[in-house]
Amino acid sequence: MTKLSRADFEAALVTTHLPTLALCVAQAAGDDALLSGERPVYDFFGDGMGGFSEAFQARIRAEADRVLWPILSGAAQPAPIPAPARISKMIDWIAGGDVPAHYLPFLEEELMLDGVDRRAPEPIYGGPRMLGAAAARQLSAIVIGAGMSGLLAAHRLRQAGVAVTILEANDDVGGTWLLNRYPGVRVDTPNHLYSYSFEPNHDWPEFYSQGDVLLGYFQRFAGHHGLYAITRFGTRVEEARWDGARGKWRVGANGSGNGGTLALEADMLVSAVGQLNEPRVPEIPGRESFAGPAFHSARWDHAADLAGKRVAVIGTGASAFQFVPEVAPEAAHLSVFQRTPPWLGPTDNYHEAVPDAFQWAVEHIPAYDKWYRFWLFWMLTDGILPAVRAEEGWNGPEGTIGPANAEMRAALVDRIRAQIEGRPELAQHVIPTYPLGGKRSLRDNGVWLSALQRENVALVTTPIARIEPDAVVTEDGVRHPADVLIYGTGFHASDFLRSYRVVGEHDADLHDRWGGDARAYLGLTVPDFPNFFMIYGPNTNIVVNGSIIFLSECATTYIVEAARLLAETGATALSVKRDVHDAFNARVDAENARMAWGQPGVTSWYKNTHGRVSQNWPFALVDYWHATRRPDPEEFHLVPGPRAAAA
Ligand code: NAP
Repeated sequence: MTKLSRADFEAALVTTHLPTLALCVAQAAGDDALLSGERPVYDFFGDGMGGFSEAFQARIRAEADRVLWPILSGAAQPAPIPAPARISKMIDWIAGGDVPAHYLPFLEEELMLDGVDRRAPEPIYGGPRMLGAAAARQLSAIVIGAGMSGLLAAHRLRQAGVAVTILEANDDVGGTWLLNRYPGVRVDTPNHLYSYSFEPNHDWPEFYSQGDVLLGYFQRFAGHHGLYAITRFGTRVEEARWDGARGKWRVGANGSGNGGTLALEADMLVSAVGQLNEPRVPEIPGRESFAGPAFHSARWDHAADLAGKRVAVIGTGASAFQFVPEVAPEAAHLSVFQRTPPWLGPTDNYHEAVPDAFQWAVEHIPAYDKWYRFWLFWMLTDGILPAVRAEEGWNGPEGTIGPANAEMRAALVDRIRAQIEGRPELAQHVIPTYPLGGKRSLRDNGVWLSALQRENVALVTTPIARIEPDAVVTEDGVRHPADVLIYGTGFHASDFLRSYRVVGEHDADLHDRWGGDARAYLGLTVPDFPNFFMIYGPNTNIVVNGSIIFLSECATTYIVEAARLLAETGATALSVKRDVHDAFNARVDAENARMAWGQPGVTSWYKNTHGRVSQNWPFALVDYWHATRRPDPEEFHLVPGPRAAAA
């Protein structure tokens, strides 16, 4: 074993995350004395260090030296992993208060303090509840999409013993990270959290790493778990059809890597095509007439040279927010066409490299990686949800929906104003009028507003009237000359599964059924579509709380448990009951209507053309976790198969 250096340890104590370090000390010492001092404060506007007094900070560091260095230098052993009751206490401490009891099993599973991956499924076959040996037909599944969710589902289903084929339209895995290659693309969930719970990475180069790093992570994941070998690349699914007589999904695809067509079948169908994979380019009059390069952010034209050009960008959502500051210094002139400004969430370390000393701590200090991830998880979890829920009878300031929302608005507006001191006239354009939480707020380290204040950048807020070969013309008749046109205009998010047809029982066509208003039970399953599951389906997007990977892990647990239910009961198919589905959607709609994003007048990709919020999960993360532990057989029609009949 390499000897660790004292100098590295001392450097780690300087850059360390103090709440994390305090817990590592308590855990390694087997003694909670340190935790009876101060408790961390979760302050949205703070430094993320827990807000400890100087004296307490010094005490944590001194205790770390006393307890951790002997362990790291090989002179002592850490105390055993704490018992569950103690872990609960430690969770309470780092969460800064008493965590409600129903959170604890969920948080302990996420924390993985003992390194045990509790979400890894038990093998389905050979288990005590299986029917006789004759019943052991191996289930198969087709997973559509090899992005973050599809890779995850395939891996977990295989761990459980299901035979899986992945169909992927692109030539590699990675989904959104493969396709979004625009300058400045990076994750905007902290990277030590944006990873599979069971596949941590100690080497993130930045706190919010760039797209190629993320792509590398998912490629490595696919490589380690043998997922390349079960994926048919260059294969675009056209249609999936349920064959009730045989209890199989039949999938027709184009391409199959050699330009031909492909027909496959499986017991289960898992759609993992995401919500944000079909670029949306608005129908602006004259769009086709534009003479220069014109492209969408998710299909960046790297051959287009922007240097010294007049560039027009339409949109100021999460994508434009990342590429505009990159394009601005290169272009001769940049016109940014904004319809609605984004809210800006303070994130000083957004573009910062993870210091070596910090990485050293993540790598070497026992349990540091776990508790740090936990801190991020809790910080982004359900705590902020009440601030984006409308309070009944609230009649506070315009653009607010409750007291916490109003307080945060005021603080954020102050921060915006401070950034535009030299250009106060910009305030009317960059301070949102809709409530905080109405759209996804973006991570602000000052780069966005300074880009908009550059001399060669114009923020245009007059609506666009038309596009001409060399200009974008606004409704006031002003021509904004452009050589290159970039659409940062988002995706066909509400048009779930837009790229293929799904036909269920009684020839029910999923898109006809939805009529542009996609709904599912838990975002996962739809009546009359047996053995069909979606990940990141309707109403499973999160706006303010957590990482989307967490929801995909929950959904995957549910799908694997559905496979187990099929295997253990010998049923051919399970199909969710309509009343269960409808009652769930009524609950979701009622709650979404109370949220900032559901308020009348707030428009975003979260609402479909019917005005219904079809994207977002309005409840706490813990509720999704509890709801997706396993399918409740009472909520499904189970179609008996030959095995069940024989049993
Ligand atoms: P988006 O959030 O839907 O933003 C689209 C932008 O285009 C909005 O500013 C929209 O204005 C504007 N727009 C649309 N049609 C327009 C028109 N006809 N005229 C003028 N403006 C128009 O799309 P996105 O930025 O690609 O982001 C989509 C989602 O992807 C994000 O919310 C996030 O969940 C995800 N994302 C994540 C990351 C990350 O983690 N790093 C990065 C990028 C994206 P309005 O607001 O007025 O509609």
